[in-house]
Amino acid sequence: MKRSKAFCVNCGRETDRLIDGLCAKCYSEKGGFSQIDGRLRIEMCPVCGFIKHRGKWIEEDLYEGMRRLIIENTSFSPHITWRRVDVDFRRKGKTLYDAAIKIEGEIDGNKVEENLYTEILVEKTVCPRCSRKAGKYYEAIIQIRTDERGFDKGEMESIEKYLTESVNRLGKEGRDVFIADRKETRGGVDFYISDKRVAHSLVYQIRDRFGGEIKTSAKLFGMKDGVKQYRMTYLLRLHKYRKHDVIVKDEKIFYIKWFSSSGVKAVDLKSWKEYSFRHKEIVDFNVLRKEDFVREAVVVSKRGKEIQILDPDTYRTVDAVIPAEIELDKTVKIVKYRDEIFLIPPSIE
Ligand SMILES: [Zn+2]
Ligand SMILES: [Zn+2]
Repeated sequence: MKRSKAFCVNCGRETDRLIDGLCAKCYSEKGGFSQIDGRLRIEMCPVCGFIKHRGKWIEEDLYEGMRRLIIENTSFSPHITWRRVDVDFRRKGKTLYDAAIKIEGEIDGNKVEENLYTEILVEKTVCPRCSRKAGKYYEAIIQIRTDERGFDKGEMESIEKYLTESVNRLGKEGRDVFIADRKETRGGVDFYISDKRVAHSLVYQIRDRFGGEIKTSAKLFGMKDGVKQYRMTYLLRLHKYRKHDVIVKDEKIFYIKWFSSSGVKAVDLKSWKEYSFRHKEIVDFNVLRKEDFVREAVVVSKRGKEIQILDPDTYRTVDAVIPAEIELDKTVKIVKYRDEIFLIPPSIE
């Protein structure tokens, strides 16, 4: 097909591509490739610093947010391949910024550069999350308690850390959730959570990590749009035994290897056989706390299944028999119970 000739209306050069009647070179010198409004607005929460973006509050640096706003609100000529946008901000007033914008691009090998200017007004609006937080709004309470025993050193702190970090992470992801309040009570700590679905999922996560039984209750607290509103209480009672504790019943002694929401995996310390127990099967077992009963001992000698170790309390050599012939490290973990010494299988972490 014969190509029709085209001439640039400005310089008269023949070209195979005309843009608004101009060759690429003349077009690149014309200017006015992009437009922006003279004033833009951005909403920022003065409490948490979050920025509103398309109806959602997100964690974003103010300058990043203003830059994004500028790019979203600039109309760019589609004929140009845009390469970069530089913005120079200058604070003009308490909530007003000047933005000098330099954009660069290219059309058929001709460089294009353009400068735009706008103002950005930062509107301070307390986000819904912060305003509800200020009102200590909550939909659920997570109560952490123990079963008979007190809390271990650091145990409550670990749970609280897990809870706080999870809530913060969800908040950063745009979920409208916060811890409205925290109250220490006689048996543990109560956490007031603004979102009951989040609270529900969190209490199950905590149980899977730290063990325990959950009891749920609901309390009517009002009506919203003709629908009854309930506040939930999730009581998590931690088990009296934990991973690596020893449990004893009727001459049987087990080392808890692994813990889940439904039960435990435990090793019989006499046979090194593994057993699974559901939590309700072991409620009446005796618990030997790992801090008090699990010790480290030096292996003195080993012949087959017969070994000698150094009693860590008396520094005397004592004999023990292990159920299986295996390699041993220089030290082993032992349980001393009623003048007997049991070895914990070294394969257990
Ligand atoms: Zn031209
Ligand atoms: Zn806020």
